[in-house]
Amino acid sequence: MNAFEEAQEQLKRSLAIFPVGNQLRTRLTRAEREVTVSIPLTMDNGSTKVFEGYRVQYSNLRGPYKGGIRFHPDADINEVTALAFWMTFKCAVTNIPMGGGKGGITVNPRELSKGEVERLSRGWVRALAPVLGPERDVPAPDVNTTPEIMTWMADEYQKLTGDTRNATFTGKPIAQGGSEGRGVATGMGGFYVFEALRDVLKLPKTVSVVIQGMGNVGGNAAKIFHEHGHTILAMSDSKGGIYSAGGLEPEAVEKYKKENGSLEGFPGAEHISNEKLLELSCDVLVPAALENQITQKNAQSIKAKVVLELANGPTSTKADDILFRKGIAVVPDILANAGGVVVSTYEWEQNLKNEHWSEKDVLNKLRELLNRESKNVWELSVKLSTDLRRAAFALALERLEESLDAKIAK
Ligand code: NAD
Repeated sequence: MNAFEEAQEQLKRSLAIFPVGNQLRTRLTRAEREVTVSIPLTMDNGSTKVFEGYRVQYSNLRGPYKGGIRFHPDADINEVTALAFWMTFKCAVTNIPMGGGKGGITVNPRELSKGEVERLSRGWVRALAPVLGPERDVPAPDVNTTPEIMTWMADEYQKLTGDTRNATFTGKPIAQGGSEGRGVATGMGGFYVFEALRDVLKLPKTVSVVIQGMGNVGGNAAKIFHEHGHTILAMSDSKGGIYSAGGLEPEAVEKYKKENGSLEGFPGAEHISNEKLLELSCDVLVPAALENQITQKNAQSIKAKVVLELANGPTSTKADDILFRKGIAVVPDILANAGGVVVSTYEWEQNLKNEHWSEKDVLNKLRELLNRESKNVWELSVKLSTDLRRAAFALALERLEESLDAKIAK
């Protein structure tokens, strides 16, 4: 199944235990708007290339569309639609006043110079500006897009529209109107969700953690878990991973990767493939890279006690069932990695009000929200006798239905 089929399968399974009215059910099978654009880019050598860009606006039932922009060679309209679908549920499960959207460009940014990435980012905005805006659609970073890219995009949007509120793109650097805490928000949010559920998931006070991916999300999660006294057994990037039974120092691993370009040869650790990394014995396995990493092929070999999904869509529905039978709880992406969109929404709110909140205030608000919604999801899973993914979808469906009901004549 492709990513969007997986996403629809998750919805179908949740509707089986938490039915909603026909109108919502039917609406949720399709995105409200899918835009594909051609972005011409003048390369440094004077030649021109055309890249495909996307914005999918899945649902604005609960507020303006919200979701990141991914630069990746495998990004396509199907993947972006699945990600926009998940954003709809993520914003509902966290009860923030946003709908679901996502964007992307099919590109390997590592093959471009910095100037080319800037011009391509600005090109995406020029092509899509008519469907964006603080009250319409508010993009953010995702895989391979950075605060610097958000600055270029926000600047291009401002030049095109004259809108100086700076509330159309989130995940900006702090000096450019970004929020305190946004950089670490997704990793930190995952940690807050873990803390909220640790006891009910019967995890020990100190856990061993394996993390796949060490970008914004995985890298920050590693540092945060480590700072709180947990053991990071393994980390990886797209080329492979390293494992140390005694535990890794995430700061040192990151520094090594920066200096050497890869984890190859990291002292005092064993080199392992990304496939083997997923199968290590640990308390918490954190997929923090891409979709479809835990599937029916390897689910039987997973030895973690809990899977904390910081990537979007890392576990297939077939793998969900295998893990459930093995007694491995999966804390679903729409809850576990929601910290990013929650703090992005705080950034949007600060920009609109022309305020700047302290990091302490931002993270306290985030912790309180994720603690509350994690407990809500857990209680619903007990009430409905189901797994955490179906319970999280059910909570989101309940809120989406409330919004729809309020908008249609009875
Ligand atoms: P990033 O570009 O900063 O980092 C991606 C990391 O994954 C890199 O370390 C890369 O080397 C690694 N990677 C790529 N392909 C891999 C593979 N096949 N196997 C192992 N590792 C691989 O991206 P990010 O922002 O950290 O996003 C990671 C995941 O988290 C994505 O699924 C994204 O949608 C999700 N997410 C991100 C945010 C956010 O705020 N950035 C919020 C919610 C969810």
